[in-house]
Amino acid sequence: MIPYGRQHIDEADIAAVVDVLRSDWLTQGPAVPRFEAAIAQTCGAGHGVAMSSATAALHVACLALDVGPGDRVWTSPNTFVASANCARYCGASVDFVDIDAATLNMSVAALEDKLVDAERHGQLPKVVIPVHFAGRPCDMAAIGALARRYGFRVVEDASHAIGARSGGIPVGNGAHSDITVFSFHPVKIITTGEGGMALTNSAGLAERMVLLRSHGITRAAESMQETSHGPWYYEQIALGYNYRMTDLQAALGDSQLRRLPEFLAGRRERVAGYRRLLANLPVAVPPPDADADSAWHLFVVRVAAARRRATFEAMRGAGIGVNVHYIPVHLQPDYRRFGFARGDFPNAEAYYDEAITLPLYPGLTEDDQSIVVAALRDALA
Ligand SMILES: *Cc1c(COP(=O)(O)O)cnc(C)c1O
Repeated sequence: MIPYGRQHIDEADIAAVVDVLRSDWLTQGPAVPRFEAAIAQTCGAGHGVAMSSATAALHVACLALDVGPGDRVWTSPNTFVASANCARYCGASVDFVDIDAATLNMSVAALEDKLVDAERHGQLPKVVIPVHFAGRPCDMAAIGALARRYGFRVVEDASHAIGARSGGIPVGNGAHSDITVFSFHPVKIITTGEGGMALTNSAGLAERMVLLRSHGITRAAESMQETSHGPWYYEQIALGYNYRMTDLQAALGDSQLRRLPEFLAGRRERVAGYRRLLANLPVAVPPPDADADSAWHLFVVRVAAARRRATFEAMRGAGIGVNVHYIPVHLQPDYRRFGFARGDFPNAEAYYDEAITLPLYPGLTEDDQSIVVAALRDALA
């Protein structure tokens, strides 16, 4: 089976993890701050807070922005469920903004319309979570302008998009958002096994996220509310979690980060390969974006909705690990129970009906790509 995505681990990655195993610190050691600084520097952000997953980072990001019961959080329906669940962990309610049919990212026009309506009804969101789908950057300048006008905060779910650039500026620099979250799951651009990171330019938000990822416990005298009992003393000053990343993971991530340019180039090369190989097939390929460099986490083709299932099954039967990204979140049973239904976000639904994700990762060979496209041709015949 050719999978849809997979990690690329080399000897340097392995050596980096082994070094940690031989060191004094498997967790809470020096590899974590080193990795945080390296990611922050790569993306041009002030602070990085490593966590056990992007899901944890999204949860902590929402908490740091004071999302709680009675608050509203909006995201894209075309995403993994974690982009929405993070708000529910905080007791907030979730709503969605339909996608743009071309970019497959949250539509800025739909966002603006929904904000106008929400303002009229006194139901503005506290936080909006745009998702850089497949690695293609959202129009953050436009979303940031709406955030200033309507007074909401912005968390970018950049799980697909480390290394992507928009107008030459790296995703994660945070010029138009409060917090950006990356995922380091093995199918993503770089990996730590499990892992995630939140970037921010706000020292206050970074401090809050550091506190919340580790039980809400501080050892900093200036943060304490009581007088110290002695040198052993620590204080829990908020309800936090154990969302820490280990040093094993951070060392792997640091080593992988050095290979980010190689991974991005490899993905772009394979996308160009697909564009060539698919030119004569009855499938729609992702439109190029003149203003931005996608990180190309996913390469999604679209086939006629009536043929999607048969095409998908034929490809799986031929050993191609095609996938579908994403089942619109509002159609999940655990969201339908809040009243969401088919028809609510028609662009996300129409896209979903046609989508097939083809394998894309740096280790995919030219031969693999030819096999994938031949299987697609046969499946469509
Ligand atoms: C993978 C992913 C997540 C969750 O990442 P984890 O690190 O597995 O928690 C969240 N949002 C999106 C868009 C993702 O693709």
